[in-house]
Formats: sequence, C-alpha cells, structure tokens
Amino acid sequence: MSPAPNPPCEVGRRHPRDRHRMRPVEGQDQLWYCAKHGMYASLVDKAEADVVERGADQELPNGVTGTVVGKGDERQGGVLLYLREA
Ligand SMILES: [Zn+2]
Repeated sequence: MSPAPNPPCEVGRRHPRDRHRMRPVEGQDQLWYCAKHGMYASLVDKAEADVVERGADQELPNGVTGTVVGKGDERQGGVLLYLREA
C-alpha cells in the first residue's frame, strides 16, 4: 500500500493559484503543517468532525493549540480538519 499524498493546504484550496501541499509533522502519523500559513491538517474520525465547530480551539496531537477553520477531504476512513495555529 502506497502512502496517501500529503493533503493540500487549506489556503490553497480556497485560492487555486496558490495550491500547495502540507508537510507531515515529525513524529505524527496523521498531522500535517504548512509553515507558510501556520496551518495544520489533522485527520479525525467522521463522528468527531461532525461535532467540531468552526472557530473552536482544539489541542493537536503534538500539543499545539489550533483554531478550527474548516474541514477538508475524506481520507483513510476519516476527515481532514484544518486548524490555524492559535
Ligand atoms: Zn499553506
């Protein structure tokens, strides 16, 4: 099984001329980061994604707090959650 590609940055999803992918956070399986935009993508269960509110603060697996800015594509049985570094 080949690994899934890194997710696109949330900013790039909204601005097609600035499409770029995020980089995996070292030591984390399901967390990606875009240094340019201070944006994280975290893979969560669909059930969790359903109850998360946009604008809510959430602690990420690496201990950083992020503010939920939106949801992304489904992958690996979960949903990508995009968070801006708080
Ligand atoms: Zn970005």
